[in-house]
Amino acid sequence: MKYLEDYYYSPEGLTVFTESYHLKRGYCCGSKCFHCPYDGINVEDSSVAKELNSFEILCPFCFETFALPANPQDGSVQNFVYDCEICCNPIDITLHFKAATLVSIDIEKSN
Ligand SMILES: [Zn+2]
Repeated sequence: MKYLEDYYYSPEGLTVFTESYHLKRGYCCGSKCFHCPYDGINVEDSSVAKELNSFEILCPFCFETFALPANPQDGSVQNFVYDCEICCNPIDITLHFKAATLVSIDIEKSN
């Protein structure tokens, strides 16, 4: 490894691998590297992943919020009725996914 090209030392004295080193290695090591060019795809249990796995619903009846799990594998558009966890009124929820990422949520009062 070459100093500055592959790694350098942070002000705290830690070894920091550069983006070019990561590209040479060819994969994400899942260690939340500062310069990860792979967007940390192998990082487990990150706060980012948690956000993608659930979403917040604002109840149109009582205006309380609660979280529901998201399952992008179930299709790019998902429509279902879910009873509010606070006031138990039925909410019509439509989820729009793009490349397994939740991009928009439509919420209506269900009849
Ligand atoms: Zn409610």
